[in-house]
Amino acid sequence: MSDVAQPITYPPAITVEDFARNLDAVQARIARAAARAGRDPRSVRLLPVSKTVAEDRLRNAVAAGYYRLGENKVQEAKRKSENLADLDVSWAVVGHLQTNKARDVAGFAAEFQALDSLRLAEALDRRLQAAGRSLDVFVQVNTSGEESKYGLSPDEVLAFLAALPRFETLRVQGLMTLALFSSDLERVRACFVRLRTLRDRARDTDPDLIGPGELSMGMSGDFEVAIDEGATCVRVGQALFGSRAPRYDEAHYWPSGT
Ligand SMILES: *Cc1c(COP(=O)(O)O)cnc(C)c1O
Repeated sequence: MSDVAQPITYPPAITVEDFARNLDAVQARIARAAARAGRDPRSVRLLPVSKTVAEDRLRNAVAAGYYRLGENKVQEAKRKSENLADLDVSWAVVGHLQTNKARDVAGFAAEFQALDSLRLAEALDRRLQAAGRSLDVFVQVNTSGEESKYGLSPDEVLAFLAALPRFETLRVQGLMTLALFSSDLERVRACFVRLRTLRDRARDTDPDLIGPGELSMGMSGDFEVAIDEGATCVRVGQALFGSRAPRYDEAHYWPSGT
């Protein structure tokens, strides 16, 4: 399909030097994109996404200054958090979570970016209360309209945000989305604009609804566009760690294998 983004190959990062070099390169891309958009580069947080990357390599990433890592599968994240517990690193879960895994996330994660149901909010809150912890959360929005994507539809977001304050352990940070996977950057951009518009509408309705109003959007292939549209967190995997096997994204990354 002409519509699908062409895969870019990123060399694998293995050594501490590889990770430091890739971090510099991505930070430089962020700085250029921010400058073009007239924004302060410090207003954009880089969240490295380390899914599929083995723990021995992650040790080198942490040594190179990757202090928070994002994972899209809770089992993998939990295992890594346990095996790397001796390191100074914290964990963000950025992928869909089943309610019956809430206890795991409540136990180790600092941040959860894929909140998309009240059942899940309730399960997380209950587990967090029991653990005496709190959690930064982003509400995931399906801005592309693709059935294969998780997240609330845009018209559900305001009511959903209004229902969250009763979950006292959840600290709402803002909204998160995965854009359309397409080489047509204008259609990708439309997804980011939709997320920003929703954030602005929530703020206009009631500034307390959306905490600091963060926008988590943009990945290796599209984060410059996301920064141009106001991203405050970009989630970057392959440009830092190297390409994943294409099979992986087909089978796991996009739900239901599309
Ligand atoms: C894998 C993943 C990313 C990073 O994608 P890359 O193409 O590796 O930069 C970002 N967000 C989510 C939710 C992911 O699962």
